[in-house]
Amino acid sequence: MRLGERESRTAGDVVRHAGEAASLGLLDSAIAECFACSRLVEWREDVARVKRAAFRDQVYWGRPIPGFGNADAEIGILGLAPAAHGGNRTGRLFTGDRSGDVLFAALHRAGLANQALSVSLDDGLELRNTRIFPAVRCAPPDNKPTPEERDTCAPWFHQELRLIRPTLRVVVALGAFAWGAWWPAMSVVYGVKPPVPRPKFGHGVQVSLPDVPHLLGCFHVSQQNTFTGRLTPAMLDDVFDRAKALAGLA
Ligand code: SF4
Repeated sequence: MRLGERESRTAGDVVRHAGEAASLGLLDSAIAECFACSRLVEWREDVARVKRAAFRDQVYWGRPIPGFGNADAEIGILGLAPAAHGGNRTGRLFTGDRSGDVLFAALHRAGLANQALSVSLDDGLELRNTRIFPAVRCAPPDNKPTPEERDTCAPWFHQELRLIRPTLRVVVALGAFAWGAWWPAMSVVYGVKPPVPRPKFGHGVQVSLPDVPHLLGCFHVSQQNTFTGRLTPAMLDDVFDRAKALAGLA
């Protein structure tokens, strides 16, 4: 295969390349070669070039971020998008930032991760029964992808869901953006129409429908929520305890 042959430059390329990815390994490789959203490509590369002072000596990943975790996961954790100096720097979701510190500490307490530490690709972190994926694969300015960027990126998410569908029992949506991204995925991947009106996002809200994974709402592990006490470790523990029970793991 020629270098660049698998690059995705348009929304149509994303649809085609996502649909052709027959394994998570192929999907991860294809995602890393995506350049379909010009604004996000420029932003991720600018951030990787300018860097934050504390990381000046590091080489940023500066690319889209694949999912992380088990191929036969029962629990999926759906986030918004990688952080500019977290995932966009380290190449792994929630790795090397404060949000990840909170999330992986909770997963470790729940027995869904072998350690709380998450700082780099080679830190030894392994998940159990769990896979984490974002609705949008590139770090967006102000953590706000546009609706067009969300829709352009969705086929990557949908294909990841198809590939882990045989075991997936529960999806934990971190925040309202992820919650909103679930409904089209449910329709496209599972062929199940979302309820009308759509259930509103809230922390601890659960939606259980026939033939699709349970959906659990959880406030995002962002610093705005964790520093202000809107989201506490106990609240996260409650969500992951429920996710494990729904997945038949508790
Ligand atoms: S956000 Fe998604 S579709 Fe857009 S460039 Fe990144 S990986 Fe590609």
